[in-house]
Amino acid sequence: MNPNMILIGAPGSGKGTQSEKLIKQYSYGHISTGDLLRAEIAKASDLGKRVSSILAKGELVDDGTVMELMASRCDLNNNFYIFDGFPRNIAQANLLQNFLSTEQNNQMAIYLKVDIESVVKRISLRRVCKCGQVYSLASTPDAEKIACTKCGNAGTIIQRKDDMPEVVETRLKIFADTIEPMLEYYKSKQLLHVIDASLTEELVFKNISDLIDNFRIK
Ligand code: AMP
Repeated sequence: MNPNMILIGAPGSGKGTQSEKLIKQYSYGHISTGDLLRAEIAKASDLGKRVSSILAKGELVDDGTVMELMASRCDLNNNFYIFDGFPRNIAQANLLQNFLSTEQNNQMAIYLKVDIESVVKRISLRRVCKCGQVYSLASTPDAEKIACTKCGNAGTIIQRKDDMPEVVETRLKIFADTIEPMLEYYKSKQLLHVIDASLTEELVFKNISDLIDNFRIK
């Protein structure tokens, strides 16, 4: 049995990248509340219209809205999930805990720890396609000029508006204000594992995979 994985980390800590690898390896379902919210904005749904200015400012959407959106995409009876970017505070952690059941034997919280200077640099180099594929100018310097390797479209790879410096500052401040209580929360439940996310993508993935493999043979 795979554990449900709660991925915690600053913007740019590699949650999305690691999620992608874990999905391929372990057939996880992926719940990225950021992706779900951006999809609602792209569809111009009522919810999307309601939250668009909040995302643009880098602030947090209210807990109820995010929880509802998240729960509507989960089928816990038939799949295991990576929760990427949810929870963002203790209220959401409690909501998720109730949602996943109180037994706590079906989940693991991973904190992707990385220093703030590194994430600021990573975010400044991050580019995304409209289809969700993520690039780094560090490895793909011409990302904004090429056709997307996932969807094949050209001219669709851009910098996310909330990855611009002024908004990143707000997002990192919110992260800094909320992370410690979240870590305490999962530590007290003996669910927390801290992973050094400054290592290479491959090493970070190996370290997370080892934790999952260990959990599966218990
Ligand atoms: P992310 O892609 O996870 O960095 O999220 C992008 C933006 O979506 C955040 O800056 C928030 O505005 C919003 N968001 C994503 N997940 C949550 C959440 N769990 N709670 C509140 N707002 C969220």
